[in-house]
Amino acid sequence: MSICLIHTGGTIGMARTSRGFAPKAGIVEDAVAKLRANGEQREEVEILRLDPLIDSANAGFTDWNRIAAAIEERHERVEAFVITHGTDTMSYTAAALCFALEGLNKPVILTGAMSPIGQQGSDGLRNLSDALDSSLVSGPGVWVQFGGKKLHGARLRKSHSSAFDAFESPIEPRAPLIRAPWLTRTAYGAPEIAALSMAPGVSPKVIASVLEQCEGVVLRAYGSGTVPESKTLRRALIEARDRGVPVIAVSQCAEGGIALGTYAAGAMLVDADVVDGRDMTVEAAYAKLAHAMSYGQDFASRRARLAQPLCGEATFPA
Ligand code: ASP
Repeated sequence: MSICLIHTGGTIGMARTSRGFAPKAGIVEDAVAKLRANGEQREEVEILRLDPLIDSANAGFTDWNRIAAAIEERHERVEAFVITHGTDTMSYTAAALCFALEGLNKPVILTGAMSPIGQQGSDGLRNLSDALDSSLVSGPGVWVQFGGKKLHGARLRKSHSSAFDAFESPIEPRAPLIRAPWLTRTAYGAPEIAALSMAPGVSPKVIASVLEQCEGVVLRAYGSGTVPESKTLRRALIEARDRGVPVIAVSQCAEGGIALGTYAAGAMLVDADVVDGRDMTVEAAYAKLAHAMSYGQDFASRRARLAQPLCGEATFPA
């Protein structure tokens, strides 16, 4: 069995510098060698370092494409993939890989650490070892192995900024992948998209001007899908739809999700053909929006892709 470890950066492979922790080449490579020397890792591990290593705060569509392309190139030859990645945007990358790799037929396990692997008491070696083990026994799909838990790649949320048990995902029966007879990669373009959050007193004019400049938007609505009943906001959403700008709404609540149409205060979202993001995380909705922008060429096909269940990213009615 052969495993390909794709190292992208993140705390797991960082060292202290005068400006704070930053990625350093060789740390993750040495950790894999240590696991092999200890007999904790017996399988062949090919390590691919995606230079420059980054803090995942710097990740963008190009980084998602580089990881997905590296998987695509080795998909036939390698049995499993482990990706070492920063935790700050791991939820976005995991979801982005689910959407980009239609027909994925191998386990892809993302992991990282809250403390650099070389630091006393770090969680890095355990997470790395768990991820390598998990890659041998998991089914195809994008999973995250972290803090002793295996989590669904399209449902992931970083819920703690310092605890070792930093991630959560709800139980999801569908595997984190889009089923297809063979692998097809949809590359991310460079869409001008944004995630906008509603807040009491937020200026509808500001929201409207952002909507005017965007090609697609994730709207973080309240509760089960309400927004302030402002004429300016309503007009901006209708105009965005008429310009072909897809908008997907998700809830600011961590659980439960939205159900558009429940309240009159959310009626403008229905009127403006905003997609009901249900209980999708904002991270998954953002990645799905970026994916839909490349997948479809016009408003109808992009909106349809956004509304379609793909890889267990949300709870859709049966
Ligand atoms: N800032 C780091 C990153 O996301 C945090 C981490 O890896 O835990 O790259």
